[in-house]
Amino acid sequence: MMDKMDMSNEEREIIEEVEEIVNRVEKEKGITDGRWRITRRKTRKIRVGNIYIGGEAPISVQTMTKNPTEDTDELLEEIREIEEVGADIVRISVPDEKSVISLKKIRDKVKIPIVADIHFDPKMAIYVLEDGLADCVRINPGNIKVAGHDKLERIVELARQKDIAIRVGVNAGSLEKPILKKYGKPTSKAIVESALLNVKMIEKMGFQNMKVSLKSSSPQDTIEAYLLFSEISDYPLHVGVTEAGTRLSGTARSAVAIGILLCMGVGDTIRVSLAAPAWEEVIVGKRILESLGLRDEEGKVIACPTCARVQIDVMSIAERVERELIKRKIKSSVAVMGCVVNGPGESYMADFGVVGGGSSVLLYRNGTPISKSQKDTDKIISELFSMLERSSSGR
Ligand code: SF4
Repeated sequence: MMDKMDMSNEEREIIEEVEEIVNRVEKEKGITDGRWRITRRKTRKIRVGNIYIGGEAPISVQTMTKNPTEDTDELLEEIREIEEVGADIVRISVPDEKSVISLKKIRDKVKIPIVADIHFDPKMAIYVLEDGLADCVRINPGNIKVAGHDKLERIVELARQKDIAIRVGVNAGSLEKPILKKYGKPTSKAIVESALLNVKMIEKMGFQNMKVSLKSSSPQDTIEAYLLFSEISDYPLHVGVTEAGTRLSGTARSAVAIGILLCMGVGDTIRVSLAAPAWEEVIVGKRILESLGLRDEEGKVIACPTCARVQIDVMSIAERVERELIKRKIKSSVAVMGCVVNGPGESYMADFGVVGGGSSVLLYRNGTPISKSQKDTDKIISELFSMLERSSSGR
């Protein structure tokens, strides 16, 4: 706290002027009264396995496996990684009968709900539904309808019998030809028209257990499409940017598009699409929700960006610590700082700190240095995690 008694007249005048400006603008604009905070739009609630989507249900994070579905062992290993970082739902592509067989083998070994992703061949959706191999079936109207109305009717009928939800997953890259012809290119309106058309068709079959996605690789088209659709329909929305890109650009584009939509109250489940491992998509998705106050914060790593003063390998230490915090479900915060310029200060604000200090690495707890090691990062990290485990279990 600044004590005005210790200040010169000039300093006092400046601070009073600053206080007056902040108070006046805050009052005029109401910026800190919470009015910008998110109010979610009302959507219907559906169930995908043990996860609810829409209504008041928490916004869930999902991802999609990248291994060939027929490689059962690799697929299971990938799903373990996805579960380990806390994904709510996993989507698995089912392109052929070998994939159906593989899905049968893993069905009971997967703890989180499964969405079967079907393109082109409605038979795959029918097999999955008949045997109850998934908790939701995603169909892409742009390519599944080619197979004929009767096949869609069969899918919908089976989904109703088995109480399995359907995701109408529209992608800008695979719109129906007549819609594409009408608009000349996959605009946001074209995407919405395709989604609405298919939703209405399925509704006419007496089925409403649906969620909808309207994805484009353009964040702007994605935002427009979801905003427009959410004004027309109250089906829960699976939000994401399709083919978003590499780890870096895809994270930025997804965070912008998903973030803007969530701020406007749109979105009931999210998927970040990256050309990177699926578990990374989950972490980015969870971080987007945490940043907007839509999900409780998990363990948090504060890391300095490093500069010429850096004395430890901040990047690799921070990544290792972050993944371990998530895997072990530890809610503590850890500052990983390259040197003592800001290291002690950040470590004071975090629960723990790992700080480069000359020829050594320092470990802090609640702002106090408690251990020092001659640049032995592995030793420091293992010491850090035994302390984290003890503190999270209350020992
Ligand atoms: Fe650079 Fe040190 Fe600041 Fe990190 S903490 S950015 S190494 S000055």
